[in-house]
Amino acid sequence: MNRTVTLEDLVYGEEDFRDHIPYEDAHGKRRWIYPRKPRGRFHKYRQIMALGLLGLFFTMPHIRWHGQPFFLINIFERKFVILGQVFWPQDTHLLILLLLIFFVTVILFTVAFGRIWCGWTCPQTVFMEMVFRKIEYWVEGDASAQRKLDRQPWNAEKIRKKSLKHALFIIISLLISHTVMMYLVGRDKVFELVTRSPAENWPGFLGLVTFTGIFYFVFSILREHACTFICPYGRLQGVLINPDTLVVAYDFVRGEPRGKLVKGEKAEGKGDCVDCGLCVQVCPTGIDIRNGTQLECVNCTACIDACDEVMDKVKKPKGLVRFASLAQIREGRSFRFTWRMAAYSGVLLVLVSVFFTLIFTRNKVETTILRATGQLYNETSDGKISNLYNVQVINKSFDSLRIRFEMEGLPGVLKSAGHGKEKVIPPQGMLQEVLIFEVEKSQIPQLKNKIQLKLITSQGILDKVSTTFLGPPSKIH
Ligand code: SF4
Ligand code: SF4
Repeated sequence: MNRTVTLEDLVYGEEDFRDHIPYEDAHGKRRWIYPRKPRGRFHKYRQIMALGLLGLFFTMPHIRWHGQPFFLINIFERKFVILGQVFWPQDTHLLILLLLIFFVTVILFTVAFGRIWCGWTCPQTVFMEMVFRKIEYWVEGDASAQRKLDRQPWNAEKIRKKSLKHALFIIISLLISHTVMMYLVGRDKVFELVTRSPAENWPGFLGLVTFTGIFYFVFSILREHACTFICPYGRLQGVLINPDTLVVAYDFVRGEPRGKLVKGEKAEGKGDCVDCGLCVQVCPTGIDIRNGTQLECVNCTACIDACDEVMDKVKKPKGLVRFASLAQIREGRSFRFTWRMAAYSGVLLVLVSVFFTLIFTRNKVETTILRATGQLYNETSDGKISNLYNVQVINKSFDSLRIRFEMEGLPGVLKSAGHGKEKVIPPQGMLQEVLIFEVEKSQIPQLKNKIQLKLITSQGILDKVSTTFLGPPSKIH
């Protein structure tokens, strides 16, 4: 392809790779990536990490804590359980704090360690590289066998292998979608859904089918495009990474000028890179790490393992491609804890402290009292004034609560359905009650009177909330 040589080319060399993404050809058509099977020490660590994460992902919806799911993000009913702690809509501030902590942690890690999240813990990479890609290698073989299979005409072997691979992909996608659904609506509801006819719950059934379709599409077709085009975190790299950030990097000081190893030829004047291209062949996003840090790099470390193996063979020190910052490579200095990292760590520390203080000091119950709308007050036939209140009590504890209501601030009688009896609120349950407070006319000092509703248990006052009592001011005042 003809290309005009620009000033940048003259300064930085012909950086053709910056003009197009690695998995598209000159006409913008997708070039399918066939990464070679990765192996090596980092790959082993990643496998261990992935096993742990996958185990967590699939078991967490089945863990119960005090009869509650350990983890539930029920956006439909606005009920959230995170690590056994129940968050009600009234706890939105805590959820926002939790989200902030998550984002600041990811940002801090990115500033210090680059895209370590992407390569090691992101569900997209874990499932793609450790589940779907492994199935592909198992069914179709390594990169060259896959390439050959795709090029050959449809024969019995190709039909058998492709059907098996896609059948397994669909089964895994079904497993993922059912598990995700468990996080959203709870394990029991998903069990109920799969044991009944779809006609009994069309929205639930269609939800599962849609999720399965999305996962199958992402892992069998979209693949690395999800990281480059869809994930907003990938796009943020440009502003988060700096020359002090640890990333998967090629040591150009040691490696250049690169050159093929020719038997019998002296390596004098040459760098350590033998230009074997193995680091490119194992890359799941198809880039050449020797071109520097690029948006597509998910820090999966496959190129480190590949290059280390080559260095072993050519009897040179490992680490030509390694975790290092640009500053470390260029200036040969060690890792520095920069002011930016310190600032993010400070913010994180404050957020975590505030979050845990709020969690440990939050009340066992959340009481809301609202005067019934549309009326000021009622006058009863025996000359008393009554106000109507809607009361909601949320029991945030893991024990059931026996409570009774009392009103203070004005002498009067508090009535409710079953008044006088104790109310029982189940653990993590809610009580909704309509209360009527009646006061003798002569006891009402002003139009708007401040009163308090008390929640009493056998141990004493559990909660106290303020409200107002409206009535005609008594003449004696
Ligand atoms: S360049 Fe290396 S670390 Fe980055 S995605 Fe490719 S193989 Fe993984
Ligand atoms: S694997 Fe190492 S030696 Fe081979 S091309 Fe890549 S950087 Fe150079």
